[in-house]
Amino acid sequence: MKPRQVVHADWTWTGKRFESDVQIAVDAAGRILQVGALDLKPTKRLPRRALLPGFINTHSHAFQRGLRGSGEDFPHGKENFWSWREAMYRLVTDLNDEAFYRLCLQAFREMRAAGITAVGEFHYFHHSKNATDYEFDRLLLKAAGAVGIRIVLLNAYYKTGGIGQPLGAAQQRFRTSSPEEYWRNFDRLQDELEDPTQSLGAVVHSLRAASLEDIGQLHAESVRRSIPFHIHVEEQQKEVADSIAAYGKPPMAALDGVMRGMHNVTAVHCTHTDPADMARFLNAGGTACICPTTEGNLGDGVPELPGHHPADGRITLGTDSNLRICMTEEMRWLEYGQRLANQSRGMHTDGTGSTARRLLQIATANGAKSLGLDAGRIEAGAWADFAAIDLAVPALRGCDETTLLDAFVFGTANGAVAETCVGGRWDDLRTR
Ligand SMILES: [Zn+2]
Repeated sequence: MKPRQVVHADWTWTGKRFESDVQIAVDAAGRILQVGALDLKPTKRLPRRALLPGFINTHSHAFQRGLRGSGEDFPHGKENFWSWREAMYRLVTDLNDEAFYRLCLQAFREMRAAGITAVGEFHYFHHSKNATDYEFDRLLLKAAGAVGIRIVLLNAYYKTGGIGQPLGAAQQRFRTSSPEEYWRNFDRLQDELEDPTQSLGAVVHSLRAASLEDIGQLHAESVRRSIPFHIHVEEQQKEVADSIAAYGKPPMAALDGVMRGMHNVTAVHCTHTDPADMARFLNAGGTACICPTTEGNLGDGVPELPGHHPADGRITLGTDSNLRICMTEEMRWLEYGQRLANQSRGMHTDGTGSTARRLLQIATANGAKSLGLDAGRIEAGAWADFAAIDLAVPALRGCDETTLLDAFVFGTANGAVAETCVGGRWDDLRTR
């Protein structure tokens, strides 16, 4: 097949290192055809740029971008996750279609500017004001399409307001009444996806939001359909206590009892997960998504993560509440949280001892696995999703190809990202 474009940056990440004189041939569908010393005439020459696979943001709630700029004053003393949730519910109560759409556009634009080319949008806010119309599902897809970010709409089931509890007033806009209604809406959305940058995954919001029976049923159907299944797990100690009171065991162990196989499951947060439960979950093929910036902001806690392979291969990152959208910051805080908790350095390393390489894998290939995407690597067959790093920024001055990745991961923010490409379509941030 003849390439539609030939991309040639000064340096390209080929999985283990940056290499020069590497070209990437991309087909008309937006997939990588070939990578290597192709000796072709470039159609997209990127001088003073280094190409990385685009970052995969495994867990986001785009509309929570609307809370940025508020919620950091504590005139009555210390607060916690639950008081933050009340502020989030106030946003939910007021938000109309237009404001929701605008927040999604903002969040997705910032993601592309941060080098994020694919997002797993964990979506539980379905309905317009005073309606049960699932209109916000469509608005999310429309916003992602307008920005050109790859999206896996992780559509959430939310039936109860706590274990065995009815939904509260604000939660009415999250409502899905039965698994049957859930899959009817899911199939309708599936029919509306037109672009290969859009796909769907299944979600139960948390153990608070559904019975164990419904969770087991929804997960079984996700396995039958070969799609990802995501769920919030053990972000708060109260959630663990409520589960023990209701089921005699913490959420992770309760899920283990109703799910058959964990290969398509991503458990988000795992902040208070017992290390033995975590090891069992990861060894069964599950993935844990950590959201260090949000967990830090909400005062959730620091998860106890196993140090090395195979568990490290099953950890991903998310920007979650989107109060800050910066994947290098998430990478650093994943590592720094573990360093602080363990008084050690080099908590996430690959087989050679490189932290930056492992963190890059977590922010790219691991996220792609969690979302069921052919992405997160610069290889033939994968989507042509890239982040182009600007080698001229002051923070990277003096780097060569052996020090660039460490300097990028540990020493830069979004200003080092010059352009992103999703499925062969470029967005040059410097010319916006
Ligand atoms: Zn979340």
